[in-house]
Amino acid sequence: MSNNLVTVAYIAAIVLFILSLGGLSNQETAKRGNLYGIIGMALAIGATAFGAGVTNYGVLLAVIVPGVIIGALLASRVEMTEMPELVAVLHSFVGLAAVLVGIGNYLQAPTDMTPSLVGAEETIHMVEIYVGVFIGAVTFTGSVVAFGKLKAIISSKPLMLPARHLLNIGLLVGTVALGFVFMGAEGTSGLPALLGMCALAGLLGMHLVAAIGGADMPVVISMLNSYSGWAAAAAGFMLSNDLLIVTGALVGSSGAILSIIMCKAMNRSFLSVILGGFGQGASSQSAGSSAPGGTATSATVEDTVELLNEASSVIITPGYGMAVAQAQHAVADITKILRDRGVNVRFGIHPVAGRLPGHMNVLLAEANVPYDVVLEMDEINEDFSETDVVLVIGANDTVNPSALDDPASPIAGMPVLEVWNASNVIVMKRSLSVGYAGVDNPLFYKDNTQMLFGDAKANVSAILAEMQKTAKTPAMAGSR
Ligand code: NDP
Repeated sequence: MSNNLVTVAYIAAIVLFILSLGGLSNQETAKRGNLYGIIGMALAIGATAFGAGVTNYGVLLAVIVPGVIIGALLASRVEMTEMPELVAVLHSFVGLAAVLVGIGNYLQAPTDMTPSLVGAEETIHMVEIYVGVFIGAVTFTGSVVAFGKLKAIISSKPLMLPARHLLNIGLLVGTVALGFVFMGAEGTSGLPALLGMCALAGLLGMHLVAAIGGADMPVVISMLNSYSGWAAAAAGFMLSNDLLIVTGALVGSSGAILSIIMCKAMNRSFLSVILGGFGQGASSQSAGSSAPGGTATSATVEDTVELLNEASSVIITPGYGMAVAQAQHAVADITKILRDRGVNVRFGIHPVAGRLPGHMNVLLAEANVPYDVVLEMDEINEDFSETDVVLVIGANDTVNPSALDDPASPIAGMPVLEVWNASNVIVMKRSLSVGYAGVDNPLFYKDNTQMLFGDAKANVSAILAEMQKTAKTPAMAGSR
């Protein structure tokens, strides 16, 4: 394929990636956005594979074929609830790729395609390699730690070493110092400095992510997404591949924008998150707030159906437990029955509900819940006080009043769905145990809260079956 044709294909791929990002910003256009992304990527891979830079198709096929098979198997087997872990692993691959491309590039002898550079060009190339390997190593180890935290192999509590900021500064100073050694080295004699920096950057990535705890993890994941984009862009510079530079920059900047949006939604400082918890007060460092007092009242499926039969307004706040239980289809059926009866049913979605941004929206869309009744936290928070019944389905941290009431809570300051302002709250979960952030929830002990214990799908299906049996009397319908 001629270079001109490759350039045209790259430009088309870039346009498709931009259209893809635009499409993904809205639920209604997300499917189309995904399709644009797939076509763009197919074009990009095809143009690269048939470009002049590739001469050995045997090696290319030997890496692509197993990669495609492993990727397809993993993606088809992964549960929706394991998606964040998969995303973290994929980010780590991008980081590792940038490290390997950097080291390979440094050691590569000049060829016709990559002639040796001199003067300023050589300096720029060396800086590209050093910075690329640095970003790649931070992304790689940071993503591995994020994977461990999401998979619960590593505790979700923040790691608060006594001199943690000094440690971070020390690692950065070491990186810069080794940079001078690397830049001054002749030939490939700078390799030990490059590998040394790689180890320091890897330690930094691990430490930065380990210092972020519980409920702040979503921001870390989108930050790592952003880092992986910059790592890809750095690899693009090293390989002089324009498409990789642009695509990496698109991922890097969209990940950074998402992180800022999530920080705002969670009332967290963006800088504090990227600097591994820098500037956090004592409150966010405490191990957990004191256990709430009181007794929780439990409800039965029949009690819940009775409340729903009497209600004229219902808000459903789903959380991670709904995803685990796969209760979304039964929830959608209950919604339909209630709406057909004229009940005002809406969903309140917290920005970090579930385990990945937009998790609840995806599940509800899959179950064909109409988009116009699915509202963001800010759009619905004021309406709880005028609501008869709130169904909290498998949510915990995102409906925890201690975020607002208890300055010593690890989630203090995080805006939450203020469900307790409704007349009646039914919380569906299996026990009184904590959510992802590991914080007790006083909501369970409030006077207007009743706990419907058990698996969310089993309970929601039982409610559905009961509602299908219970025909509403015309008098009750008329009273609305
Ligand atoms: P939580 O993690 O706070 O709580 C989920 C609850 O679901 C648990 O307390 C559990 O209680 C219950 N549950 C689990 N399985 C079932 C089941 N089969 N049936 C019924 N209930 C079940 O969820 P939220 O969505 O409220 O909050 C999300 C948390 O995850 C936040 O802390 C957020 O910061 C964090 N997070 C979010 C990410 C994102 O991008 N959205 C990424 C990483 C972390 P029990 O065991 O008693 O049943």
